[in-house]
Amino acid sequence: MRILIVEDEHRIAATIKKGLEQERYVADIAYSGTEGYDLAIVEEYDVILLDIMLPGMNGLELCRALREKKIHTPILMLTAKSQIQDKIIGLNGGADDYLTKPFSFEELLARIRALTRRPKKTLSNMLTVADLQLDPQRYDVVRKHRKISLTNKEFALLEYLMRNAESILTKDQIITHVWDYDSDILPNTVEVYIGNLRKKIDFAFKNKKPLIKTVRGFGYKISP
Ligand code: CA
Repeated sequence: MRILIVEDEHRIAATIKKGLEQERYVADIAYSGTEGYDLAIVEEYDVILLDIMLPGMNGLELCRALREKKIHTPILMLTAKSQIQDKIIGLNGGADDYLTKPFSFEELLARIRALTRRPKKTLSNMLTVADLQLDPQRYDVVRKHRKISLTNKEFALLEYLMRNAESILTKDQIITHVWDYDSDILPNTVEVYIGNLRKKIDFAFKNKKPLIKTVRGFGYKISP
């Protein structure tokens, strides 16, 4: 899951990014409204955290501009102002939710989870493909009742595959959602990570059907 943080206060932005990375999210920072706009229309994000008071273009303008561009990424407004007025304007401008500063990191995570929950209403956020289960909240991966330990990147990759189960994902899509903008990705990085994941979730289970499939010339998918 990749998140864009649009926040001009460097310390706040860095703290949020670090916290999100500890929670296995990938995060990019934009320090102005215009920079945020440029990133949001070029890159694919799963959530945008948007400060209101920003240089360049303010958060409300940015939100409206993105919606006009038909970019429907969920937007969580972060505002220092607690005035009802701003919230109403923000939500009317196309924001999905808002959070008043100062907020606890737990609260921020809860809102992000709510915004990235699949549209289908389910009681748990557990992702399941055949007998493989991934719990995004507890960072648990289990197959055949056996716990599988993954690195952060492997976990992020598997989560992305499972959220899009049965869809073919290209290497570019995978890179976009699993690595941040500043990462140095070599063309075979995705292959290497897919290879590692296969060892742990497929090859480790001898009598089980492999779940990760290579679709020649297109990319990868996970399916039962
Ligand atoms: Ca600000």
